[in-house]
Amino acid sequence: MTAVTAVTAAPAVAALTDGYGRRARDLRLSLTDRCSLRCSYCLPAEGVTWLKRSQLLRADEIVRLAGILVGQGIERVRLTGGEPLVRADVVDIVAGLAALTPRPELALTTNGVALARLAGPLAAAGLQRVNISLDTVDRGRYRAVTRRDRLGDVLAGIDAAVAAGLRPVKLNAVLLRGVNDADAATLLDFAVARGCELRFIEQMPLGAAGGWSRAALVTASEVLSLLGRDHELTPLPDRGAAPAARWLVDGGPAAVGVIAAVTEPFCADCERLRLTADGQLRTCLFAGTETDLRTPLRAGADDARLAELMVAAVRAKPAGHGIGRPEFCPPARPMSAIGG
Ligand code: SAM
Repeated sequence: MTAVTAVTAAPAVAALTDGYGRRARDLRLSLTDRCSLRCSYCLPAEGVTWLKRSQLLRADEIVRLAGILVGQGIERVRLTGGEPLVRADVVDIVAGLAALTPRPELALTTNGVALARLAGPLAAAGLQRVNISLDTVDRGRYRAVTRRDRLGDVLAGIDAAVAAGLRPVKLNAVLLRGVNDADAATLLDFAVARGCELRFIEQMPLGAAGGWSRAALVTASEVLSLLGRDHELTPLPDRGAAPAARWLVDGGPAAVGVIAAVTEPFCADCERLRLTADGQLRTCLFAGTETDLRTPLRAGADDARLAELMVAAVRAKPAGHGIGRPEFCPPARPMSAIGG
């Protein structure tokens, strides 16, 4: 393994505040566009054009850009992808991020396939929290949704994450009508039994072309009425800028979250920025534009210049994603290439 040296955070040029007064505190850092699964709502079965290795940021480049963003006010960094655990240097990257000053909160979103092997090393390197995607606990339906027979590995990964003390362990589920929507209650029972928090994410128009329709969407309110058949749900206040609205399950302490990104957008409170695996800064999952940081980085730009580019990108952040508006246009890249 190669060591990744943390840089000292750059002096703040200006806070990362956009034209609507929202301050960016949360960075989604994509390590790769590649994935070990082919979830039907995220990637086509075949024919994806992957980024070339030379296009991907190296570990030292990732840590440097993250360090500059942390110096500008980013407080939380979540590693994602693609599947972040397919990167051989993921533990080194976590260690590099954990050595930043100030130290950001470090989280990971993963499909869990490789987590049984990596949960311990990641926790030792400084990872604090993990979200694991799990759309069903039925092996056949898992294979149907993800196009891979890896449920056993994922369940072992969830146990390993809990054992490694990566708390809270959250489970992310996307429900697809007629495929796994009948699994909502079983998923909740599974999560509660393991002390994990389940979060349902409304399917967004980001997957394979033609794979999304508003009419077929399993909405947040539908999810709540499915869960409400077997459980008493009590809304929790103080959501702040978090994407998930949360409910106590049967009086608690277990809770369940729902991310209603389509039917109840929370853009007005958005604190997120995204850095793609090829070094493009995005201010919204659905943004039509990106700010190229990789080219100036590799051309020798200093931290102050890179910070200026980041600040300018954030100033131009759009008010909202606009799903449902006539002029809405899904991003040219799939979710795997943007970083979920
Ligand atoms: N590979 C990792 C994983 O599976 O968690 C990280 C990347 S994945 C893109 C991050 C999250 O985005 C997953 O929980 C996945 O279910 C969710 N996701 C992907 N495509 C989506 C879509 N079209 N709508 C809603 N959520 C989606």
